[in-house]
Amino acid sequence: MISQPRSGGFARIENHLARFPIPLVMSLTAEILSTIPGNPLAGLDHADRLWQQLREGVAPPPQVLYKSSQTAAIPADSAVGMAVDVVVLGGTLGIVLATALAQGGARVALVERGRLQGRDQDWNISRSELAVLVDRGLLTADELASAIGSEFNPVRIAFAGGPDRWVRDVLNLGVSPARLIAILRAKFLAAGGLLLENTQFETLTIHPDRAIVQARAIKIATPGAGGAGGGAAFGDWIAQDEPIVLTARLVLDAMGHQSPIVRQTRGTTRPDGVCLVVGTCASGYPHNDTADLIATTTGIDNQRQYFWEAFPAGTSRTTYLFCYGDAHPSRPSLREVFDDYFQLLPAYQGLESLAGLTFQRALFGVFPAFRNSPLQPPVDRLLFIGDSSGLQSPLSFGGFGALLRHLDRLLTGIETALKTDQLNLSALAALLPYQPNLSVTWLFQQAMRVGVNQQLPPDRINRLLDAVFGEMAAAGDQVLRPFLQDVVQFPALSLTLARVAIAHPLLVAQLIPQLGLPSLVGWMRHYLALGLYHMGDRWAWQTDEPQRSAWRYGSGNDWHG
Ligand SMILES: Cc1cc2nc3c(=O)[nH]c(=O)nc-3n(C[C@H](O)[C@H](O)[C@H](O)COP(=O)(O)OP(=O)(O)OC[C@H]3O[C@@H](n4cnc5c(N)ncnc54)[C@H](O)[C@@H]3O)c2cc1C
Repeated sequence: MISQPRSGGFARIENHLARFPIPLVMSLTAEILSTIPGNPLAGLDHADRLWQQLREGVAPPPQVLYKSSQTAAIPADSAVGMAVDVVVLGGTLGIVLATALAQGGARVALVERGRLQGRDQDWNISRSELAVLVDRGLLTADELASAIGSEFNPVRIAFAGGPDRWVRDVLNLGVSPARLIAILRAKFLAAGGLLLENTQFETLTIHPDRAIVQARAIKIATPGAGGAGGGAAFGDWIAQDEPIVLTARLVLDAMGHQSPIVRQTRGTTRPDGVCLVVGTCASGYPHNDTADLIATTTGIDNQRQYFWEAFPAGTSRTTYLFCYGDAHPSRPSLREVFDDYFQLLPAYQGLESLAGLTFQRALFGVFPAFRNSPLQPPVDRLLFIGDSSGLQSPLSFGGFGALLRHLDRLLTGIETALKTDQLNLSALAALLPYQPNLSVTWLFQQAMRVGVNQQLPPDRINRLLDAVFGEMAAAGDQVLRPFLQDVVQFPALSLTLARVAIAHPLLVAQLIPQLGLPSLVGWMRHYLALGLYHMGDRWAWQTDEPQRSAWRYGSGNDWHG
């Protein structure tokens, strides 16, 4: 029977509610986030819409990358038609490369959709990883010290039901992206860099002799707001909607996970893994002197295993809740994870309620990860940098740390490519080679998540992680520390596997059906490749660059504490 439409006021309200459901009781997430300056609730809903599109696979890949067999010509109607050596697209991590290249004498333009200003939330990192910024002359020791917003020790690793384990001097610094980027911005301008803020990248066309970038000024900004350090930021004095054309020898795509060039290159391929992260920075915690690198307080529930991270940020405290999964439509929205976060936070931090906390910032993100990483450039004259490259670990998603780890070799490679004019696809692809030490981490991510139809005992992941971290800690610093810094090395991994297999044979046997034979067989290839790369690095089978650094970085032997 087809029901008849009801008439009158009630029917109209029902129809309206069916189309635009409004929660009658405001959720705790909405209540708290609406008190935080900057309207993070709107940002959360925007991120959730993108995440929903990703889960449903409904957004077609954009068309922004073109190839032409003709030599390059600048269209006559452009506001700026400038020739440079390198265009960097995206300024968060892009400014690091842009500044170093400009200081080395290259003509560099940086195109940033918003303001080049970083964000409030600190990046966690270990001190040894920051040294490259000073060694490469990007920062003085004093400037580096001024960018470090917080330092904390010790750092805890703890899984529900197991003991607490503590490490010192690992990921125990908080670098302020805002301060770091302000310093680099001034240096970039001082080195003659061309900064186009409020300028959105639109298309990239690769010609045999040049790359042409088309962009558009998207906001009229105050003239003269060039920023610290003098120099000129171009986006300030270009009229809104003005087309901008830049020709370059090389383009670095540093537009992050959502880069339109990456989305076109990856096409309709769905991410193999996703990490959902939510959190806040708040004051009012009674205890704020230690940090958690990774901790759990609950087991598997609703096909999710939640993990916590926490650290002091000045007098405030940052806490994150995250879980791994895939892009299946049934996976939770960020809002749902946030609801769980606020519900679980008091027990995690030993609070009676949330009443004593003052929330200053809300943080959230969806990190997609692809097995096909790092992403090789699909055309000449293009290289992916930062999150767009997929060079970061699918476990930590620490893109800042990953860039610093590879910064020296990337800069050397890019400078050599520019100097020798080797800007074709194969020369540039050699700068983002296969990395077995990245590929092996896929299985770890898989072991830390629950499939949508998988039935696992609630304590399975906690017990596994407690056993693995226990064995790594017992094996010593040389095994545990590189792993915590996202570096997997063949001897350390082999020793850990052997120790876990001997001490916990039942857990290992249970893992085989959990992960599935095809995944394990695929993983064996990467594990064996890791061994091969380790030997290649140790015995220097081939001594020419970039093969030498492929051995070194692919085996994790670049790690130096
Ligand atoms: C909550 C949270 C905590 C984190 N903690 C850490 C941590 O502790 N340690 C760590 O190493 N990493 C951490 N990360 C990850 C780190 O923030 C990223 O790896 C890093 O920001 C990646 O920088 P990116 O420049 O590659 O990409 P993004 O940060 O995504 O920046 C891309 C830039 O490109 C610009 N852009 C995008 N599209 C266009 C366009 N069409 N035209 C022009 N410009 C464009 C954007 O405006 C943006 O400035 C964290 C991330 C989150 C969300």
